[in-house]
Amino acid sequence: MPIRVLPPNVAARIAAGEVVERPSSVVKELVENALDAGAARIVIEVAAGGLDSTRVSDDGSGIEVAELEAAFQRHATSKLADDADLDKVLTLGFRGEALPSIAAVAEVEMVSRPAGSDSAARLRLVPEAPAELSACGAPVGTSVTVRRLFARLPARRKFLRSPASETSAVTAVVSHYALACPEVRFTLTIDGRQALQTPGSGDARDALVAVYGAETAAAMLEVGNGEPASTVLVDGLVGPPQVSRAGRQYISLFVNRRWIQNRRISFAVEEAYQGLLMTGRHPVAVLQLRVPPEEVDVNVHPTKAEVRFRDEGAVFGAVQRAVRTALLAGAPVLAAAPTLGLSAQATAPLLWEHGVRVAATTAPPAVAGSPGPNGATQAIPATPSQALPVLRVIGQMGGTYIITEGPEGMYLIDQHAAHERVLYERFWRKRQEGTPELQGLLEPLSLEVSPRQRTLIAEQAEPLAAHGFEIEPFGDGACVLRALPRSLAGGDVRQAVVEFLDLMFEEGEGDRRDRVAMSLACHAAVRAGKTLSVEEMRELSRQLEESETPNTCPHGRPTMIHLSADALAREFGRR
Ligand code: ADP
Ligand code: MG
Repeated sequence: MPIRVLPPNVAARIAAGEVVERPSSVVKELVENALDAGAARIVIEVAAGGLDSTRVSDDGSGIEVAELEAAFQRHATSKLADDADLDKVLTLGFRGEALPSIAAVAEVEMVSRPAGSDSAARLRLVPEAPAELSACGAPVGTSVTVRRLFARLPARRKFLRSPASETSAVTAVVSHYALACPEVRFTLTIDGRQALQTPGSGDARDALVAVYGAETAAAMLEVGNGEPASTVLVDGLVGPPQVSRAGRQYISLFVNRRWIQNRRISFAVEEAYQGLLMTGRHPVAVLQLRVPPEEVDVNVHPTKAEVRFRDEGAVFGAVQRAVRTALLAGAPVLAAAPTLGLSAQATAPLLWEHGVRVAATTAPPAVAGSPGPNGATQAIPATPSQALPVLRVIGQMGGTYIITEGPEGMYLIDQHAAHERVLYERFWRKRQEGTPELQGLLEPLSLEVSPRQRTLIAEQAEPLAAHGFEIEPFGDGACVLRALPRSLAGGDVRQAVVEFLDLMFEEGEGDRRDRVAMSLACHAAVRAGKTLSVEEMRELSRQLEESETPNTCPHGRPTMIHLSADALAREFGRR
C-alpha cells in the first residue's frame, strides 16, 4: 500500500483511543474539566458502569453558546495561550483533546450556561452526523452526557469488563478526586443509587470519611513537611501502621491537585513505613505534593496520569521524610517496633542458635509451602516436611512466647506466628476439600464499607461464600454479615472483612487465594499478649508439630527459636 495521510475521522478515532480507554476515562476527563471550571459541586451519574450512560454536571463557569462547538475541536482549549504556557501548567486539562476524543467514540450532549447569562444551550453530537445546537433552560454550569460509548467500535467494547468492574473503576476515579479536592462537593450516583458524597467542607478528613469510612478517617495522621525551604511541599493524611491494607491502591498521590500514578513516589511512601508494616501490607495515604509548575512536566502521557519531575530524587526524599516524620510523631512506640525475632542473634551470638531448625539465613519465601503461582491444586507441601519433634510445654513468657522442651533442647515459640502457620495450612486444606468451616452469626453484623467494597461484595458473592463468608450489601455504605469463617469468630471481624475485600480486589501478582489465606490466618490467630492456658499451649504446639512447614509463619517470620542443649552446656561452661 502507498503511504497516505489518514482521513480526519480515522485519525480522530486513533487519537481517541489514547485518551478514552474505558468509561472511567470519560469520567476522569469530565471531572477534570469541571474542576478546571471552578466548580463547587460536581455530580457524576453512571448507568451500567458507564456502558449505558455517563453524566457529569457541575456548577462551574459554563461555556458561551458561541464556543460550544469549538470546545469539541481537536486541540481547542481555553487553558493555554502559547508555547510558554505549556511549561507552567496549573490546570488539569491543557491538551484540548478530551472532548473531541469522547465525541469520536460516543454520542455526546453538552448543556451549558455561563455565569451571567440567563439562557443555556444544548449541543448534541453523534459521530458522523451533523451537530445539533438548540436553546434550553438550565442552571449555571455545564452538564455533559455520554451515551453509547464504543457502540460503533465493537472491538473496543469487547475489551471492556463487566459493568460491575467498570463501576468500580469509575468509583476509584471519583474517590481519588474527592480526596484531592475536599472543598468540592462530589456526588456519585450508580444506577440511580447514591454511592458516594463528600460534604465539600474543605477538610481532607471529611472527604476521607466519605471514601474510606469514619474509623479509618479518624485514625489518620497529618502530614506536613514543614520544610519551607524545600521546593516540594507535602501535606495530607497517612494511616498509622495499624490501619494498613493488603493492596497498594490506597496510596493516592496528587501533584498540584492532579491525581498521578508514580511507582517511585508510591515507593517513597512505603519506604517511610519500613519496619512498621509486615510483608504484604501497604499503607493508606492521601498526599498532596505542591511543586512549582516548571519543576514538573505533565505533558508526558495522553491521559496525564504520569508526570515527570525535573528532580525526582528531591521529591522522593521530601515525601519519604514527611511521611516518616508524621508516623514517628503519631505513634512513637512503633519506632522501636518489629525487628522480626532475629535480633537476638545480633546481640548475643554465642547464646542463640537459630540455624539448627529455624533456617533463618535461608528463610523460605513469604509463603512457604504454598502452591505454585499457576494456582495448581497440589496439596500444600511443595517443600519437604520439616516436621518438629514432640514438644513438652513448660510455660508462657510475657503472654507472647511459649517455652517448650524437645529432645534437642529448648524451643521458644512465638504464639501468634505459630498459630498463623497452623491456620494458614488449615484454610488451604479446607478450601482444597471445598468445605469451608463457617459459623453463622446469631445477630447479623453490619459493617461500614466503601462504595468500591460494596460493589465487590455484590460481584464476588461466590468466592466470598467459598471462604465461608455470607455477606451482602445493605443500604448505602454498609453490608451485613450473616456467617463467617469459623476461625474468625471472636476475632476482629471488621478488619478481617475489609482486608479480605481488598485482597479480592487486587488483581494480578501471584495467587490471590494464597494472600487471602494469609490474611485470614493473620486475623484469626491468637494475639501476642494473650495469656494461654496450659491446655491451649499444648494444643497449639501439637498442631504446630503436625504442620508441614512449621518453622515459619506464612509471611516468612520464624515461628520459633531453638536453643540447643549443646549451646546451653557451652554457655554454662559444662563443655
Ligand atoms: P482541555 O480540558 O484540555 O482544555 P477539553 O477537550 O477537555 O480540553 O475541553 C475543551 C475546552 O472546553 C476547555 O478548555 C474548556 O474551555 C471547555 N470546557 C470543557 N468542559 C467544561 C466545563 N465543564 N465547564 C466549562 N468549560 C468547559
Ligand atoms: Mg479537559
